Amino acid sequence: MVVIIQALKCKKCGAPLDVSPEDIIVVCPYCGFPNSFDEIFGESNTFFVESLSEKEIVKKFWERMRKDRDFTGSRDKISIVKVEGFYIPLWFGKVKARGYVRYEVYEKRRGKKEKVLKHRKFNDTLIVCSSGRRSVYDVALEELTRKMEKSHIFLKDLKQTLASKIKIKPLKELDVEEWESLKLDFLNTEFGRKRAEEILLDRASDRAKELYVPEDNELLSFSFEGEVEDFALVFYPVWRIYYDFGGGTYFVAYDGFNGREIVALEPMRIWRKVGYLVMAIIGVIISGFFATLVGNVTFWRAVAEMKKGALIPILIVVAGLYFGYELSRGYGKKMSWDVRVER
Ligand SMILES: [Zn+2]
Repeated sequence: MVVIIQALKCKKCGAPLDVSPEDIIVVCPYCGFPNSFDEIFGESNTFFVESLSEKEIVKKFWERMRKDRDFTGSRDKISIVKVEGFYIPLWFGKVKARGYVRYEVYEKRRGKKEKVLKHRKFNDTLIVCSSGRRSVYDVALEELTRKMEKSHIFLKDLKQTLASKIKIKPLKELDVEEWESLKLDFLNTEFGRKRAEEILLDRASDRAKELYVPEDNELLSFSFEGEVEDFALVFYPVWRIYYDFGGGTYFVAYDGFNGREIVALEPMRIWRKVGYLVMAIIGVIISGFFATLVGNVTFWRAVAEMKKGALIPILIVVAGLYFGYELSRGYGKKMSWDVRVER
């Protein structure tokens, strides 16, 4: 048996590259150029999206800070420490999904709340998205993939559907010159097609749950079956601006295609803390009030005399204690966070 080892070289700098059959693109470790070798996949399924420039993103950042009331009067204390932009691999899948849901909801009937059993079948085509970088959890990428899944009008195929929303260009058309003008590094996908298919199916199942089971209900059963009918790998530009403010470092992540904010990790300003403190104190007062009832002899005597209905005041006291405790605990916890996440 003859094993042919194909020596592949970087199209830009000519450096030798390690290529495994799983690789869809190989980012050159020497110069960073994204080489694509997978002919079948690469032609029609691998894309990139052009990005706004660093200057434009920085401009958006300052516009935002000017508008943000939280920073009124202290804008000059903000200083940008780092601006970084990357092409993030996003896996897209067109999933044919079928299934069945059964759940309970409360509905008002003749003035009374009643438990109603509901069930339905679904049969749908879903577009799901997952980041190709899953080794570390990243709140910005999580948000971006959720946004990518929303409001798709399904066209002829996955490629056309994506093209109608985010101007995708085949990666094959990326030549060395254009790559140099983009000034963004490509991050390779951490897994191949097989693993992507599993992840996208998982995601489709979660998405079906979001779509077909209303919030605030008891899910009794859920079945899901699906196939990934079409794939695409899109290298999508994401920018992050890190800034210092009042001794802490925070960031705003931007969608490089349209310049929209994806997520921001911001300092919590003092008035917000005061609001949380007030709520925590109210919680303490409520639980304190119910705690005095527990220690009050007259209250228990009255409860004892009620005999039949005695359970009701006891339940009210327990619920009051619990509510007050949770309120003070919840807001106390919020207060101790120094950052808040804005979506
Ligand atoms: Zn190279």
